Amino acid sequence: MPDAIAILHAAGLRRTPVRTGVIDYLARSPRPLSVADITKKLPRGTDVVTVYRTLNTLVEKGLARRLHGDDRTWLYEFISPGRPEDDHVHAHFVCDQCGTVECLPDVTLPTLPAQLAEPKSGKNYAVTKQELTLHGKCPKCT
Ligand SMILES: [Zn+2]
Ligand SMILES: [Zn+2]
Repeated sequence: MPDAIAILHAAGLRRTPVRTGVIDYLARSPRPLSVADITKKLPRGTDVVTVYRTLNTLVEKGLARRLHGDDRTWLYEFISPGRPEDDHVHAHFVCDQCGTVECLPDVTLPTLPAQLAEPKSGKNYAVTKQELTLHGKCPKCT
């Protein structure tokens, strides 16, 4: 389990109860979480705006990744500092029936960004981010 206090210190961030709580909970979760999911787990009375701000800060510092969830919500997942094997970008699966979002770390991502940046192809896109989300029914719903 990552040490939230050490992580904040290494990132040069002040330690606050919301920051340590958000890191603890995100790091423990096997799947991306919405702001509502996270806020529910924090002490009662925690301000949603503070949670949003905290998540933005973590994304800026490279400690969390933001991705599109269902219904225009954002989901967040933790990136372990100094553990590149956890840091690799992976596909996600959204179940359109129950709304569950799962990480698919073993699915190989298409090489489209590399093709777009291929000088020989005459294309010159600068790809900075790749996001792949598959939709359908999860094993529980099929
Ligand atoms: Zn499902
Ligand atoms: Zn994920």
